[in-house]
Amino acid sequence: MATVCKFGGTSLATADNIRRCCGIVQSDEKRRFVVVSAPGKKHKTDRKITDLLHDCYLCRFDEHKFGETFGIIEKTFTDIAEIVPSFPIAQELATVRAQIRFSEANLDFVLSRGEYLNAKIVAAYLGYTFLDATAFIRFQGGELDMSATRALAQGLDKNGRYVIPGFYGADERRHIKTFSRGGSDITGSVVANVFGCELYENWTDVDGIYVSDPRAIENAKKVEQVSFRELREMSYMGASVLHAETLLPVYENPIPIVIKNSFAPEKKGTQILKKRTEVSDKETITCITGKNDYTCIQISKMMLDKQLGFVKKATAVFEEYHINISHTHSGLDNLCFFVERAQYVEISFENFLKVLSARIDADKIKGHEKIALLAVIGHNLSGKIGVLAKIFNALKNNRINVKTIYQSISECNIIIGVEDSQLSDGIKALYRDLIDGE
Ligand code: ASP
Repeated sequence: MATVCKFGGTSLATADNIRRCCGIVQSDEKRRFVVVSAPGKKHKTDRKITDLLHDCYLCRFDEHKFGETFGIIEKTFTDIAEIVPSFPIAQELATVRAQIRFSEANLDFVLSRGEYLNAKIVAAYLGYTFLDATAFIRFQGGELDMSATRALAQGLDKNGRYVIPGFYGADERRHIKTFSRGGSDITGSVVANVFGCELYENWTDVDGIYVSDPRAIENAKKVEQVSFRELREMSYMGASVLHAETLLPVYENPIPIVIKNSFAPEKKGTQILKKRTEVSDKETITCITGKNDYTCIQISKMMLDKQLGFVKKATAVFEEYHINISHTHSGLDNLCFFVERAQYVEISFENFLKVLSARIDADKIKGHEKIALLAVIGHNLSGKIGVLAKIFNALKNNRINVKTIYQSISECNIIIGVEDSQLSDGIKALYRDLIDGE
C-alpha cells in the first residue's frame, strides 16, 4: 500500500524547505507518490512562481520586462537546485525561457512550468522517477476526464516511486491543460485514486483546518476531523482549505486525506474522512466562514405554488447567460436566487434583471446587491435544539441584521445572509458565542 504526499508552494519555496519535505518523504517507506506545487512565497511580499510565469506570458514580446520577471524565476530555481549539484538547471531554464518567448506556447503551458521544474528537482534529490502529469492526467472539453486518466494510469508501474508535478495534465490534443489555481490539490487526489493509495497527505504551512480563518480570528481553534460533506461546504463558502474540486476523485472509493504542516510534521493535523469517526450526539461546529459580494434576485408571483414549470423557465434564463446560481430559497409566492457578483460576465446584473423580467411572467422582480453569506458548518446542526437560537442571539447582540436564512437538509450547514459590510463582524460574533463561549 502507498501514500501520496502533496506539498504546497510555501513548503517548497526554498532549498531548505525542500530538504525538509524530502526528509518527511524519506521517513516513511509508504510515501511513494509525491506531488509538488511550484515554489510559493518565501516572504509575505514575494510573488508566487505561478504568478510570475503569468506575468512572463503577458510580457513575452517585451524583451526588457520579460527579462526582469524571468530573472526572478531563474534566481529562485537556481537557488533551489543547489540541493542537487549535478542538476542541469541552467539548461532547463534556458529551454523554458525559449519556449515562452519564441514558441507558440499557450498560457496553460507557461503556467505549468513552475510545477514541472520543481518536480524534476525534487525527483533528482530523492532519487525517485519524474513522472510527468501529461502521461496520465487527461482533460476532455476542459474538464478532468477520470476514466481516460484511469485507463492511462493502468499502463504505469504502480510499484515505482514517483514525483509528479501538480496542477496540470494534457487535453485531447496532448496540449498542456491546467486546473484552476490551487489545482495541485486535485492532482493529489487523482494520483491517490489511480494508483490505489490508502492515504492522501496534503502538506502545507499550517497545522490543519481551523474553525475560522486564523488571520481573522486570533487563536482560532483547530479541527481534528472533518467529513467530506463538511469540507465541500467549507470550500464552497470561501474557507481556503483545499481546492473545492479536490474531493471528487477520492469520494467514491473513499481515500482519507490528512492536512499536515511540513514545518511541524510532529503535529497531528486534520483528518478529512468520508464519515467522521469521532462523533458525539452534541452538535459540532467545524467551520464559521463567509463570502461577500453576492446578489439576490427576488421574484414574486401570486399563486406561485400552483404554477408548474415556473422555476424551470426562470433558471433557463440564468443558464442561457452561463450564470451559476449558488443558493435558492423559495416561499409561497416568492423565489430567491443568490448569485455571486462575479458570475455576471456575459451580461450586467442590471441588464439581466431586465431580460429576466421580459422572459418570465412575474408580478415583481427585485434585485438586491452587496449581500454576504455567513456559513456555519458542522455535524448534527439540525438535529439539535438551540443551534439557531445561539446564532440569532450572537447576531442580535452585535446588531447584525439577518436578511435571510437557510438550513440545509444535509444537516451540515446553516447559511445566513447579511449586509456585505457586516461579514467580518458576523464571523467574529458567531465565533465568540458558538466556539469561545462553549
Ligand atoms: N502553483 C499553482 C498555484 O499557485 C497551483 C498550486 O499550487 O496548486 O495556483
